[in-house]
Amino acid sequence: MILPKNNRLTPEQVVEITGVVAEFGCKIQPIVGAVRTIYAIVGDERDDLMINRLEGLDYIDRIDRIQSPFKLMDRRSDLANHRIAIGSVTLGDELLVIAGQCTIDPKNPNYYLETSQAVKEAGANALRGGVWKPRTNPYSFQGDARSLEILMEASRRTGLPVVTEVMEQEHINLALDCGVHVLQIGARNALNYSLLRQIGRAIAGRNTTVMLKRSIHNGPLSEFISAAEYIAAFGNPNVILCPRGTQPQLDGYRNQPDESITPLLKEKTWAPVVVDPSHSVGKAGYVPAAALAAVAYGCDGLCLEAHVSPSHGIGDDPKQAVTPAVLTDLIKRARALHAALRPQPAVATHA
Ligand code: PEP
Ligand code: MN
Repeated sequence: MILPKNNRLTPEQVVEITGVVAEFGCKIQPIVGAVRTIYAIVGDERDDLMINRLEGLDYIDRIDRIQSPFKLMDRRSDLANHRIAIGSVTLGDELLVIAGQCTIDPKNPNYYLETSQAVKEAGANALRGGVWKPRTNPYSFQGDARSLEILMEASRRTGLPVVTEVMEQEHINLALDCGVHVLQIGARNALNYSLLRQIGRAIAGRNTTVMLKRSIHNGPLSEFISAAEYIAAFGNPNVILCPRGTQPQLDGYRNQPDESITPLLKEKTWAPVVVDPSHSVGKAGYVPAAALAAVAYGCDGLCLEAHVSPSHGIGDDPKQAVTPAVLTDLIKRARALHAALRPQPAVATHA
């Protein structure tokens, strides 16, 4: 929809605009109001080149898009009924709980193996475990490819699917070769379009899923969904959106909790939403409340950092990881809340 700066376009401007949109196979149709006339673009208006050309005309106030810029991830796309299963859980049917250590310590594999068994017993459906870590400081522990074997051993022992973050093509190849079920794109790489293309290409034709975290910079939701579209565009639409907090605005929380974007995402896209309260609030004590808030906002799953002995963890675990006892209680309460919020079947009444 074209909104001119003046109340209507001059005949010369109509000629110019008609010429531009015709190059893209479109026409314009005036919608005449009492005071203002606006102009509908008739045809496929999604071409950015056309929009950019029109926006560049100095007599145009703005262009409002009617069609969604995300052809695949849009709620109204042909994929609207696409379902993603992680292990035994089909997202949307029951609450998915992913839990495990932030980081696998290759020198102490038993911690990861014990944590994995404990999170399974707590009721988690999938394991998380960082093999490669995006660290702010180049001298901090960067992860170790040898931890991949520990991750897969935990998966074999527990029978649970695993999630790990990848940051480059080599990680993607190694993780896929080992049979990692869900590849995570972290908040720092959430807008790395080369990596998004690489991962989309790599998972095409496979059953693998990508969990895409939201970038930390608090960008618009369309930016988050467009990042998912980059991945899906290669043919495998198994993409989960993961809000994980944005730039901190409160002294107490590591990031600004953003689980409240869940209903907004659900209005725009069919993609499942799995919220990560651990990175959002950044302190174990706040995680249960943030997790329950996420469920109340309608998320399809939670991704939680947990450790059998947080103080012996590395990476985020000493601060963020909840213990198996807290996790057990949290999962029970989250599942009960999720069930309570589901639409209830109508109860038959007797006359
Ligand atoms: C993580 O999952 O441990 C992690 C580093 O995540 P994020 O990208 O959300 O910071
Ligand atoms: Mn972490």
